[in-house]
Amino acid sequence: RETSPVAPAADSAPVEGAPGAAESLNAVLDWHLARHPDRVHLHIYAGDDTPRTLSYADLERGARGIAAALRRRGLPAGSRVALMLPTEPDYFIAFFGILRAGAVPVPIYPPARPAQFEEHLRRHGRILTNAGVEILITVPEARRVARLLRAEAPRLAAIVTVAELDASTTAGIADAESPTASSLALLQYTSGSTGDPKGVTLTHGQLLANIRAMGERLEVTSRDVFVSWLPLYHDMGLIGAWLGSLYHAIPLVVMSPLAFLARPLRWLELIHHHRASLSGGPNFGYELCLRSLTPERLQGLDLSSWRIAFNGAEPVSARTMQRFAEALAPCGLRPGALMPVYGLAEAAVGLCISPPGRGLVLDRVERAAFTGKQQARPVHGREPPLTFVNCGPPLPGYAVHIVDRDGRELAERHEGDIEFRGPSATAGYYDNPTASRELFDGEWLRTGDRGYLADGDLYISGRVKDVLVRGGRNLYPYDLEEAIGRVEGVRKGCVAVFGDPDPESGIEALVVVAETQVDEPARRHAITQAIRDVTVDIVNVPADAIRLVPPHSVLKTSSGKLRRAATAELYRSGRLGQGGAPVWRQALGL
Ligand code: ATP
Ligand code: MG
Repeated sequence: RETSPVAPAADSAPVEGAPGAAESLNAVLDWHLARHPDRVHLHIYAGDDTPRTLSYADLERGARGIAAALRRRGLPAGSRVALMLPTEPDYFIAFFGILRAGAVPVPIYPPARPAQFEEHLRRHGRILTNAGVEILITVPEARRVARLLRAEAPRLAAIVTVAELDASTTAGIADAESPTASSLALLQYTSGSTGDPKGVTLTHGQLLANIRAMGERLEVTSRDVFVSWLPLYHDMGLIGAWLGSLYHAIPLVVMSPLAFLARPLRWLELIHHHRASLSGGPNFGYELCLRSLTPERLQGLDLSSWRIAFNGAEPVSARTMQRFAEALAPCGLRPGALMPVYGLAEAAVGLCISPPGRGLVLDRVERAAFTGKQQARPVHGREPPLTFVNCGPPLPGYAVHIVDRDGRELAERHEGDIEFRGPSATAGYYDNPTASRELFDGEWLRTGDRGYLADGDLYISGRVKDVLVRGGRNLYPYDLEEAIGRVEGVRKGCVAVFGDPDPESGIEALVVVAETQVDEPARRHAITQAIRDVTVDIVNVPADAIRLVPPHSVLKTSSGKLRRAATAELYRSGRLGQGGAPVWRQALGL
């Protein structure tokens, strides 16, 4: 590890003002180009220990070349161009090149290994078709499967690499018309936790509104430094980390998610080395980091610059955060830096975020009142309470309310469906009228999540589609899955709990699917027994079925989230345990 942090570069002096009046991402980049073209915008660690840096001018220069090449192909304004590139300079350049060409980027994730291209693209055929993508910008290996892809996505006319596009000159090509606030800026596909990914339409105005609101809540300035290993094909890494840093003139230090997975402590080392103030990710990232920590490895690590350690995109585990804070306190991590956040692609990215410095706030409520009557009563009795993590109030300019099944607004501390509205609420999914209709409840958007408000702060209890009803009580998979993940021999984070309705009675059987590497029958029996005990402890009924399965059998999204419904489908069809989805996390055997 580099022993001393880097000194701030000469061109990283604080920036006065902000591109407040900018209507589009294009105008945001113009704002920087007019004031400080050579200021470093990105430090990109791709592969080795020496980062490549990109200034605003470097980004612009590369983007212009791509834009000209795309325009030369006669790409009509508003065309969708898919981007399937790893975290490297080309990604950023191509993204802005698409915007400068007047087109709309559709980021999709690159497979972890070239050998997986075929399977990968087949699965992405549906996204490419839905978005009506004509051009896919990717790495050379993917060209091999071009013919196959055309069968999956008939409108796809070209698969090109950045080098091929870049080789062209910008001469004689007119600039595309500048986008306005209402122009489509991005198709952000949802993670696909509950079904097929849906293409959330986001305009320039919506992206900027969300970026401004997050900046205001987090009190960011150009003195902040952001470190991110988050994938650039999902809202948190793309909008939260990159585009937010671009707007607020914050230097962004990026490494690829694969590099993070291979060596999680690299994340903390980069925070140390760059004196970073903003960094975070989903809960599993904190878990992975915790697993690799040893006292020797913490020697000399200084995390006192870390102002905001956000955790979101999947359920936040109070335990993970507490262990993380404890383990890294000797390195100067402040407990107040911990920040659970809640968001969804339909809001661009962020929806509820606590004010900085608050740290982890937990709410302990009576289990019986919660599961039976959906009331979050602060606990007094001796019964083991249910614990929920405070995700903070809605961002400035946004509103969240909780409704019952009939759409009636509920009072504070009553649990129900979470709906929101705000300046970045999407107008709907791209070319998907059915899902778009289901999204709206009048002027409110359904998040698909359940939770409650207390003192204006949001607490998430689970997804609407994942709640199981048993004997008039609601059972929440997440709480149970976390406890089962602590059973010895069970792979943490690789447990799915779901209901399996009896076709005649409609009564839902409680099914537990847990991954394990244990083969020995006596030990497997002990694990099953322990899972049964945990289930009784937590929800007062034993599981109706417990299935131990090999690693990678529980399905996950490309961002590592559990796909309970898809796993349940495998269970019902008897195909469980016959090899899981090759998502990037699983591809590395994690
Ligand atoms: P799909 O909509 O395709 O099923 P998805 O909902 O996982 O997938 P995203 O928009 O990427 O797609 O993720 C948003 C969802 O992530 C939220 O609706 C919520 O379920 C979950 N989530 C985000 N933050 C939190 C949090 N702090 N706690 C619990 N869940 C969270
Ligand atoms: Mg969703």
